[in-house]
Amino acid sequence: MKVKLILPSLTEAKSAFWRPIKYSLFPPIGLATLAAYLDENDEVELQDQHVEKLYLDDSPDLVVIQVYITNAKRAYTIADQYRARGVFVAMGGLHVTSLPEEAQPHADAIFIGPGEQTFSEFLRDFRNKKPKQRYYSIDGRTIENQPPIRRDLIKRDKYLVPNSLVISRGCPHHCDFCYKDAFFKGGKSFYTQRVDEILTEIDRLKGKHLYFLDDHLLGSPKLASELFEGMKGMGRVFQGAATVHSILNGNLIEKAAKAGLRSVFVGFETFSPENLRQSNKYQNLKQNYEIAVQRLHNLGIMINGSFVFGLDADDKDVFKRTVDWGVENAITTSTYHILTPYPGTKLYADMQNVNRILTNDWDLYDTRHVVYKTNLLTANELEVGYHWAYDNFYSWSNIFKASFSHETIKHQLKHLFYTGGWKKFESFWNIIINTGGLKILLPILELLLSEIKSEPEILSNWDSKQFSTPKTINSINNSTVYQSVKSTI
Ligand code: SF4
Repeated sequence: MKVKLILPSLTEAKSAFWRPIKYSLFPPIGLATLAAYLDENDEVELQDQHVEKLYLDDSPDLVVIQVYITNAKRAYTIADQYRARGVFVAMGGLHVTSLPEEAQPHADAIFIGPGEQTFSEFLRDFRNKKPKQRYYSIDGRTIENQPPIRRDLIKRDKYLVPNSLVISRGCPHHCDFCYKDAFFKGGKSFYTQRVDEILTEIDRLKGKHLYFLDDHLLGSPKLASELFEGMKGMGRVFQGAATVHSILNGNLIEKAAKAGLRSVFVGFETFSPENLRQSNKYQNLKQNYEIAVQRLHNLGIMINGSFVFGLDADDKDVFKRTVDWGVENAITTSTYHILTPYPGTKLYADMQNVNRILTNDWDLYDTRHVVYKTNLLTANELEVGYHWAYDNFYSWSNIFKASFSHETIKHQLKHLFYTGGWKKFESFWNIIINTGGLKILLPILELLLSEIKSEPEILSNWDSKQFSTPKTINSINNSTVYQSVKSTI
């Protein structure tokens, strides 16, 4: 049987905000996971439109398409083309689960919820020529004893972070704006792989670097603790996501750092208790963000902070407040979002009930546009403020300011190169992507994620000719180097 797996590109791919590197980070691990359920005799191909041109004039026996909200239009067009030629099309993903009625006319079969169990059931039916129109994942969800992910289908050279893995599904929390509860409705909404299986999977991955794409890597303290214990001595460096609460409580984050955690995505989202309550994000309430940041810095872990603008208590000052906080607390990278009520979420239902949804043009649901009636801010203020926040946080002056507030030189330089490299050299990234050079950058990323000693280094270790008196790097903020660099930007 010939099978084609397709990830259509998100609509952002054609917008002015398109940053090719942002969409060349992670391979489509979900489709490669499903491919593992196919027979070894099946002829399989995986195409990711973010990194390659799709060819659609073939006629496989089965096409499987993964649908997110902002690639939905493209996914439907591709599906319609194949179906017009008599090819069987199956679709699944977050958007199909949220809006099955919208997706169904474009597919012969759709999957509601996570696909691991339903995909193998579908394959049995398909081979027996009795496929159903819908497959619901409800009972028996598990990711234990899975067949190995078909990493051989992934074109590793096209991604900066080919070694991505997902060791859990869902998350233990229930934020109103998150897709999680909609996607896992009707069954377990947080479950994990077995530690021995995760370690085996890690062993299969070349190089040092790993990226755990789990919603919450520390969501199961028992699993995380056993995993980090098992990873000791493997010489890996890795990145992942965690909540403020999990960083502040217990010693899991120390164990993670010892195992190789070098950068973490943290959903701070908002500083307003009112906003946190509105979003049902109680795990962040009464948590001291600064102490969490300090704890991460002390462990040499870089921080990607996530922030949402446009919650009902946000006023005109929210943008400056958020950027200033990020810079003062030396957050390495910030990801800003305009609040987006995804269909299927409680937030969407609540807003729809009071007629606050302005459009169902899913292309605009990209966290860059305002799609609902705002409260204290106008839609224009919100969009302008969102762009202002990005521009300001990633201005050279703020990058230098945040970098040089770390205690050690190594931490300062890592911050500077990581943040500057990520956001300020777009043409460089484009050349690297166009010349197929992403693979040579992986060792550089691994170097940037190398360990930072907790003791402050002294300037004399760094450049003894330029600085004759040993002093801690904190004082570099007032040094001529910092001031002269600042004055040139
Ligand atoms: S903590 Fe993150 S992944 Fe979990 S429900 Fe909230 S937003 Fe979703």
